[in-house]
This record gives sequence, C-alpha cells and structure tokens, in this order.
Amino acid sequence: MKGFEMPRVTLHEMCMSESIAATCCYSETTAGLSTIHAVLNGGNLSRYSWREVYAQVIEFYGGIATIPKTHYSYYFPNLDDVYYDEGAKMISGGGYWSKDVAAFEQNTEGKLQALGTIDDGKISDEEILPGAYVSATRSECDHMTNACPFNYVRSIDYAHVGATMPHALGTSQWFLPHQAHQYNS
Ligand SMILES: [Zn+2]
Repeated sequence: MKGFEMPRVTLHEMCMSESIAATCCYSETTAGLSTIHAVLNGGNLSRYSWREVYAQVIEFYGGIATIPKTHYSYYFPNLDDVYYDEGAKMISGGGYWSKDVAAFEQNTEGKLQALGTIDDGKISDEEILPGAYVSATRSECDHMTNACPFNYVRSIDYAHVGATMPHALGTSQWFLPHQAHQYNS
C-alpha cells in the first residue's frame, strides 16, 4: 500500500455474524479451483456506472435544479495561426478554438462581460479575447449524457444492484446500487 492512500474501512467483519443473509450482499465459497459468489437479498452482482454532475457546478449554481438547461461554447481565435502584415492588418487566419462554458455575462449590447469555462469539472475565469464569442450548443440538457460538459462517469466495479431485501452494511439505501460486500465462509 502506498503511503498516501486513505485507509479503507472494510465491512467484512460485519458479515461474520449469524445472520449472514441479513447483512451481506453475497457469500463466497471456493470449491477446488472455482470460486462461487451467491447473491444474497435479491438482485445481482455487476459493474455499475452512472453519471454525476460535478460538485463545483452544483456549488456554483446552488443546486442541481437551478443549473441552466442550455449549454454554450466559447469560441476564440487561434492566435498561433493568425498572421499580421507590417501594418498589423490580419492577412490570414486559422480557425477558432472552443471551450465549454460554465457561465457568462453580457452587457445590454450583447458584448461579453464575464466568462467562466469548465474543463474536467473545474470552473475557471476566462480572459475574453478580441474576436471571441459565445454561442449556444445544446438546449434542454438534463446533464446526464455524454454530450453534457457538466457531468462525469462514476462506477462501482463490483456492485450489488436491484436488492429486494434490507441488509445492513452501513447504508440505509440498500435498494440503491452499492459496493458489494461479502461473507467469507
Ligand atoms: Zn448538461
């Protein structure tokens, strides 16, 4: 174990009780070379993935319900590809680059006043370059798809999904997908 890793709390001991079925997600038995996992309390054992809105986005908007449903991109000139002649007149230009917008403000003429972009869940103040603009890219977003810049994928490699009976393991939310905990016989 590397020094900086957080200590992991294992709940195996909790399973070593008389009421295995009441507390565990599955039992493990080994017969020869094969290991058998028997699911307890209904449901199945599988990898489970879901999308979650970035914490900084929720914090910024004060909740999931208040996050706008329209997304914007910030388009700014690719300055490395823009060439000027001696009179500083642009003689050729490259394309625009873009970034995902977290939030922006315009004045009454529609000129950008303030801009925050988002990358990997981190919102940063953005310098507004001359010639840059903001444009809507997606509307009616539920922030739960791959196309949305406000969420990321989380997963549990070995999850207990669809349990039909209560079992303790430190969570009252036993009916939601959760890390599967085993009983070692
Ligand atoms: Zn979204």
